[in-house]
Amino acid sequence: MNEVKVKVLVVEDEASIRKFIAINLERSGFDVLEAETGEKAVEMAEAYKPDVLVLDVMLPGIDGFEVCTRLRDRMPELIIIMLTARGQDIDKITGLELGADDYMVKPFNPRELTARINTVLRRMERSKLPEDVPLEYKNLVMDLKSQKFFKDGREIELTPTEFSVLKMFMSNVGRALSRNELFNSVWGKNYFGDLKTLDVYIRRIREKIEEDPSKPRYIETVWGYGYRWCDK
Ligand code: CA
Repeated sequence: MNEVKVKVLVVEDEASIRKFIAINLERSGFDVLEAETGEKAVEMAEAYKPDVLVLDVMLPGIDGFEVCTRLRDRMPELIIIMLTARGQDIDKITGLELGADDYMVKPFNPRELTARINTVLRRMERSKLPEDVPLEYKNLVMDLKSQKFFKDGREIELTPTEFSVLKMFMSNVGRALSRNELFNSVWGKNYFGDLKTLDVYIRRIREKIEEDPSKPRYIETVWGYGYRWCDK
Protein backbone atom coordinates (compact mmCIF):
# COMPACT_ATOMS: atom_id res chain seq x y z
CA MET A 1 0.00 0.00 0.00
CA ASN A 2 1.36 3.36 -0.93
CA GLU A 3 -0.35 5.48 1.67
CA VAL A 4 0.89 9.00 2.19
CA LYS A 5 1.58 9.63 5.86
CA VAL A 6 0.29 12.71 7.61
CA LYS A 7 3.26 14.96 8.37
CA VAL A 8 3.51 16.45 11.87
CA LEU A 9 6.05 19.05 13.02
CA VAL A 10 6.60 18.97 16.79
CA VAL A 11 7.93 22.23 18.24
CA GLU A 12 9.22 22.07 21.81
CA ASP A 13 12.55 23.18 23.27
CA GLU A 14 12.61 20.58 26.04
CA ALA A 15 14.23 17.62 24.30
CA SER A 16 12.79 14.92 26.55
CA ILE A 17 9.22 16.11 26.04
CA ARG A 18 9.74 16.65 22.30
CA LYS A 19 11.18 13.15 21.83
CA PHE A 20 8.41 11.62 23.89
CA ILE A 21 5.74 13.30 21.75
CA ALA A 22 7.60 12.47 18.51
CA ILE A 23 8.04 8.79 19.36
CA ASN A 24 4.40 8.41 20.25
CA LEU A 25 3.19 10.15 17.10
CA GLU A 26 5.48 7.96 15.01
CA ARG A 27 4.01 4.89 16.65
CA SER A 28 0.58 6.17 15.71
CA GLY A 29 1.65 6.24 12.07
CA PHE A 30 2.53 9.88 11.56
CA ASP A 31 5.59 11.15 9.75
CA VAL A 32 7.24 13.32 12.42
CA LEU A 33 9.64 16.27 12.16
CA GLU A 34 11.06 18.13 15.15
CA ALA A 35 12.07 21.72 15.84
CA GLU A 36 13.50 23.07 19.09
CA THR A 37 12.96 26.79 18.54
CA GLY A 38 10.27 29.02 17.08
CA GLU A 39 12.56 30.35 14.37
CA LYS A 40 13.43 26.83 13.29
CA ALA A 41 9.73 25.90 13.34
CA VAL A 42 8.79 28.70 10.92
CA GLU A 43 11.68 27.76 8.63
CA MET A 44 10.82 24.04 8.66
CA ALA A 45 7.09 24.62 8.24
CA GLU A 46 7.75 26.60 5.08
CA ALA A 47 10.30 24.12 3.75
CA TYR A 48 8.49 20.86 4.54
CA LYS A 49 4.83 21.93 4.49
CA PRO A 50 3.62 19.74 7.37
CA ASP A 51 -0.08 18.94 7.73
CA VAL A 52 -0.04 19.43 11.48
CA LEU A 53 1.95 21.64 13.84
CA VAL A 54 2.16 20.62 17.50
CA LEU A 55 3.37 23.85 19.01
CA ASP A 56 4.51 24.58 22.54
CA VAL A 57 3.78 28.12 23.77
CA MET A 58 6.93 28.48 25.88
CA LEU A 59 9.93 28.57 23.57
CA PRO A 60 13.21 30.49 23.67
CA GLY A 61 13.34 33.35 21.15
CA ILE A 62 10.00 33.75 19.38
CA ASP A 63 7.31 31.93 21.32
CA GLY A 64 4.52 29.65 20.13
CA PHE A 65 2.03 32.51 19.77
CA GLU A 66 4.39 34.36 17.46
CA VAL A 67 5.01 31.19 15.42
CA CYS A 68 1.24 30.70 15.14
CA THR A 69 0.76 34.31 14.02
CA ARG A 70 3.49 34.10 11.40
CA LEU A 71 2.30 30.83 9.90
CA ARG A 72 -1.48 31.11 10.19
CA ASP A 73 -2.03 33.52 7.30
CA ARG A 74 0.59 32.02 5.07
CA MET A 75 -0.54 28.42 5.62
CA PRO A 76 -4.31 28.46 6.17
CA GLU A 77 -4.60 24.68 5.74
CA LEU A 78 -2.09 23.91 8.47
CA ILE A 79 -3.62 22.30 11.57
CA ILE A 80 -2.14 23.97 14.65
CA ILE A 81 -2.40 22.36 18.08
CA MET A 82 -0.92 24.46 20.88
CA LEU A 83 0.63 22.98 24.01
CA THR A 84 -0.06 25.10 27.06
CA ALA A 85 1.12 24.89 30.67
CA ARG A 86 -1.30 23.88 33.38
CA GLY A 87 -2.83 26.89 35.08
CA GLN A 88 -2.25 29.18 32.10
CA ASP A 89 -5.89 29.30 31.02
CA ILE A 90 -5.36 32.59 29.24
CA ASP A 91 -2.94 30.81 26.88
CA LYS A 92 -5.70 28.55 25.56
CA ILE A 93 -7.87 31.45 24.52
CA THR A 94 -4.92 33.44 23.16
CA GLY A 95 -3.90 30.45 21.04
CA LEU A 96 -7.38 29.99 19.62
CA GLU A 97 -7.70 33.69 18.93
CA LEU A 98 -4.48 33.57 16.97
CA GLY A 99 -5.89 30.79 14.83
CA ALA A 100 -4.87 27.55 16.54
CA ASP A 101 -7.31 24.68 15.89
CA ASP A 102 -7.00 23.12 19.32
CA TYR A 103 -4.85 23.07 22.44
CA MET A 104 -3.62 20.53 24.95
CA VAL A 105 -2.61 21.19 28.54
CA LYS A 106 0.74 19.70 29.58
CA PRO A 107 1.31 17.09 30.81
CA PHE A 108 -1.02 15.04 28.63
CA ASN A 109 -1.46 11.48 27.50
CA PRO A 110 0.12 11.18 24.03
CA ARG A 111 -2.79 9.03 22.91
CA GLU A 112 -5.05 11.98 23.59
CA LEU A 113 -2.90 14.11 21.28
CA THR A 114 -3.20 11.49 18.53
CA ALA A 115 -6.97 11.46 19.05
CA ARG A 116 -7.18 15.24 18.77
CA ILE A 117 -5.12 15.30 15.58
CA ASN A 118 -7.29 12.57 14.07
CA THR A 119 -10.44 14.49 15.00
CA VAL A 120 -9.30 17.58 13.10
CA LEU A 121 -8.15 15.46 10.16
CA ARG A 122 -11.49 13.63 9.97
CA ARG A 123 -13.30 16.95 10.11
CA MET A 124 -11.25 18.19 7.18
CA GLU A 125 -11.81 14.99 5.23
CA ARG A 126 -15.54 15.22 5.81
CA SER A 127 -15.72 18.81 4.68
CA LYS A 128 -13.57 17.96 1.66
CA LEU A 129 -15.98 15.39 0.24
CA PRO A 130 -16.68 16.33 -3.36
CA GLU A 131 -19.58 18.72 -3.35
CA ASP A 132 -20.09 20.46 -6.63
CA VAL A 133 -22.56 23.07 -5.59
CA PRO A 134 -21.08 25.93 -3.59
CA LEU A 135 -23.05 27.27 -0.62
CA GLU A 136 -24.21 30.79 -1.36
CA TYR A 137 -25.80 33.48 0.75
CA LYS A 138 -26.22 36.96 -0.69
CA ASN A 139 -22.69 38.27 -1.28
CA LEU A 140 -21.02 35.26 0.36
CA VAL A 141 -19.93 32.10 -1.43
CA MET A 142 -18.46 29.00 0.16
CA ASP A 143 -16.74 26.68 -2.29
CA LEU A 144 -16.70 23.30 -0.57
CA LYS A 145 -14.51 21.73 -3.21
CA SER A 146 -11.61 24.11 -2.89
CA GLN A 147 -12.37 24.98 0.76
CA LYS A 148 -12.42 28.63 -0.16
CA PHE A 149 -14.67 31.39 1.04
CA PHE A 150 -15.49 34.56 -0.81
CA LYS A 151 -17.17 37.82 0.12
CA ASP A 152 -18.09 40.11 -2.77
CA GLY A 153 -15.90 37.94 -4.97
CA ARG A 154 -12.85 38.48 -2.80
CA GLU A 155 -11.35 35.53 -0.94
CA ILE A 156 -11.36 35.62 2.85
CA GLU A 157 -8.89 33.13 4.31
CA LEU A 158 -10.36 30.84 6.91
CA THR A 159 -8.68 28.18 9.01
CA PRO A 160 -10.07 24.62 8.66
CA THR A 161 -12.00 24.98 11.92
CA GLU A 162 -13.43 28.38 10.99
CA PHE A 163 -14.49 26.89 7.67
CA SER A 164 -16.31 24.03 9.45
CA VAL A 165 -18.14 26.39 11.80
CA LEU A 166 -19.19 28.66 8.95
CA LYS A 167 -20.30 25.71 6.86
CA MET A 168 -22.72 24.69 9.64
CA PHE A 169 -24.27 28.15 9.49
CA MET A 170 -24.46 28.38 5.74
CA SER A 171 -26.10 24.94 5.59
CA ASN A 172 -28.71 26.04 8.14
CA VAL A 173 -29.84 29.49 7.05
CA GLY A 174 -32.37 31.04 9.44
CA ARG A 175 -32.24 28.18 11.91
CA ALA A 176 -31.14 28.83 15.50
CA LEU A 177 -28.34 26.42 16.33
CA SER A 178 -27.59 25.67 19.96
CA ARG A 179 -24.03 26.07 21.14
CA ASN A 180 -23.96 22.34 21.91
CA GLU A 181 -25.17 21.40 18.46
CA LEU A 182 -22.60 23.63 16.80
CA PHE A 183 -19.84 22.42 19.06
CA ASN A 184 -20.65 18.74 18.51
CA SER A 185 -20.91 19.11 14.76
CA VAL A 186 -17.48 20.69 14.53
CA TRP A 187 -15.48 19.07 17.33
CA GLY A 188 -17.41 15.80 17.69
CA LYS A 189 -19.43 14.41 20.58
CA ASN A 190 -16.47 12.74 22.24
CA TYR A 191 -14.45 15.88 22.47
CA PHE A 192 -14.25 17.20 26.01
CA GLY A 193 -13.73 20.80 25.20
CA ASP A 194 -15.00 24.04 26.52
CA LEU A 195 -18.01 25.69 24.91
CA LYS A 196 -16.09 28.95 25.26
CA THR A 197 -13.91 27.68 22.44
CA LEU A 198 -16.90 28.01 20.15
CA ASP A 199 -17.50 31.60 21.23
CA VAL A 200 -13.90 32.43 20.42
CA TYR A 201 -14.40 31.02 16.92
CA ILE A 202 -17.62 32.95 16.41
CA ARG A 203 -15.82 36.14 17.39
CA ARG A 204 -13.00 35.42 14.97
CA ILE A 205 -15.34 34.59 12.10
CA ARG A 206 -17.32 37.78 12.74
CA GLU A 207 -14.12 39.79 12.60
CA LYS A 208 -13.37 38.27 9.23
CA ILE A 209 -16.76 38.44 7.54
CA GLU A 210 -18.82 41.16 9.24
CA GLU A 211 -18.63 44.85 8.30
CA ASP A 212 -19.09 45.70 11.96
CA PRO A 213 -18.37 42.69 14.21
CA SER A 214 -20.12 44.41 17.16
CA LYS A 215 -23.35 44.60 15.12
CA PRO A 216 -23.27 41.28 13.32
CA ARG A 217 -25.38 40.99 10.23
CA TYR A 218 -24.71 37.34 9.45
CA ILE A 219 -24.14 35.50 12.72
CA GLU A 220 -26.72 36.59 15.22
CA THR A 221 -26.47 35.70 18.92
CA VAL A 222 -29.51 33.89 20.31
CA TRP A 223 -29.20 34.73 23.98
CA GLY A 224 -29.02 31.77 26.32
CA TYR A 225 -29.11 29.36 23.41
CA GLY A 226 -26.61 29.79 20.65
CA TYR A 227 -26.38 31.44 17.26
CA ARG A 228 -28.35 31.88 14.08
CA TRP A 229 -27.35 32.66 10.54
CA CYS A 230 -29.70 35.57 9.95
CA ASP A 231 -32.21 35.47 7.21
CA LYS A 232 -32.98 39.15 6.96
CA1 CA B 1 8.81 24.60 26.10
